[in-house]
Amino acid sequence: MPAPTQSIAATTAERVNLLGMPRAELAAFFASLGEAPYRASQVMKWMYHALVDDFSAMTDLSKALRARLADIAEIRAPELASSQQAGDAVVKWPAAVGRGQMVETVLIPESGEAEEPSRRTLCISSQAGCALDCSFCATGKQGFGGNLSRAEIVGQAWRVAQHLARRGDARGITNIVFMGMGEPLLNFDPVMDAAEVFMDDLGFGLSKRRVTVSTAGVVPRIYDMTARADLALAVSLHAPNDDLRDTLVPINRKYPLAALLAACRHYLGTVGERRSVTFEYTLIDGVNDDLAEAQALATLLGDLRCKVNLIPFNPFADDRRGYRRPSSARMRRFQTTLQEAGVPSLLRTTRGDEIAAACGQLTGAVRDRTRRRSRLLASAPAAATDLAAA
Ligand code: SAH
Repeated sequence: MPAPTQSIAATTAERVNLLGMPRAELAAFFASLGEAPYRASQVMKWMYHALVDDFSAMTDLSKALRARLADIAEIRAPELASSQQAGDAVVKWPAAVGRGQMVETVLIPESGEAEEPSRRTLCISSQAGCALDCSFCATGKQGFGGNLSRAEIVGQAWRVAQHLARRGDARGITNIVFMGMGEPLLNFDPVMDAAEVFMDDLGFGLSKRRVTVSTAGVVPRIYDMTARADLALAVSLHAPNDDLRDTLVPINRKYPLAALLAACRHYLGTVGERRSVTFEYTLIDGVNDDLAEAQALATLLGDLRCKVNLIPFNPFADDRRGYRRPSSARMRRFQTTLQEAGVPSLLRTTRGDEIAAACGQLTGAVRDRTRRRSRLLASAPAAATDLAAA
C-alpha cells in the first residue's frame, strides 16, 4: 500500500480547504494522513470554537503535523467587505466568493421573547444570484452566477462569528437561515455539508430547530433533504393555487402545489410530531393578498402542522412589474383570516430595508451566466443602469 500521505499530496493540486468539511470527512482526511481520527475534533475546535485559521496556532498538534497541514491544507473563508448597518441593527456584509462574484450575508438581531432570549439570526447565501427568477425577487432578476462551495457557505457564518467575538459577544450566532441569495436545494451537497457543520457540537453547535433551509419548492430535493438531515424546513409559497403560483414562482410549473405539499407531508411524517413547516408568503398589493386568497390558503394548509410567515413585499430597484406593499390594514386582515381559520401566522416586520438587506433585496455583484441579464438590458434601459452599476 502506498503511504497515504503521498496520495493526498500527490492528488491535491490545490490545498484542501478544511472549512465546512463535515466531521466524518475530516476524520477520514486525517486517517489518510496516517493520523488518529480524533485530530478532526481538535482541528474543529480550533476552527469553530477558537475561530482560528492558522495551523501554527494549534498548539495541541505536533509541530510536524502543523507544518504538514500548512503545506497541504488551508482554512479559508470568503473575505467580507465593509458592512452596512441599518438603524434597526441589521448588518449586511458583501462577501467575495469565487470567480469574482459577490454575495450578501445579513445579521438580524431580534429582541427576546418570554421563552427565548434574544436571537442573532444570520441569513446566508447559498448561490451567487439565483436561477429561479421569482417575479418579485431582486436576486432572481440578476440571473445566476454559480454555486457557492461549502467553505464559502460556512465561511459567511465563520466570519460573522469572528466579528461578534471581537465585539465581546461570546454567544455569537444563535440561528442560521438559508434565506439569502440563491436556492439552497439547487446547491444540495455543499448546503447539506454546511448544515452539518452548523449543527455539530464541534462546529457551531446549533440545534436542528435553529438551522433552516428555505426553498421555493425543489420537490425531489425536499425528499433528499429529509433522508439526509434533520433540519428546519421553510417553503416559499406566496400563492394558494397553481395558476397564481405559476406566475410568481416559475418553478411551480415543474413542481405544482400538490407535489410540493406532498413533499411537506413526507417531511412532517419523518421529523416527528413536535416540528412544523414554515410557509413564507410575501404579500403583494392586489396580487395575492385578497381575502379570498387568505381563505384558500387556510383551506390548502388546513391539516398541515405549519405556520405562515407573512412578509410585506419589499420594493427593489429594477422591479418592472410595479409591485407594491399592501396597506397595514390589508395585511392584518389577511393574517386575521388565517388565524381565525386555525392557521398560525405571523406578520413579519420588515427589517434592514433601508440598506437593501430585507427579504428579496439582496443582490451583491453577480456575473450572470444565463442570458437573463442581456435580455433585461435589451428590454429595459432603466434597469440597465442599475444592473450596470451592480
Ligand atoms: N430560494 C429560497 C431562499 C430565498 S429565501 C426560497 O425561495 O425560499 C428569501 C425569501 O424572501 C423567500 O421567501 C422569497 O420568496 C422572499 N422574497 C423574495 N423577494 C421578496 C421581496 N421583494 N419582498 C419580500 N419577500 C421577498
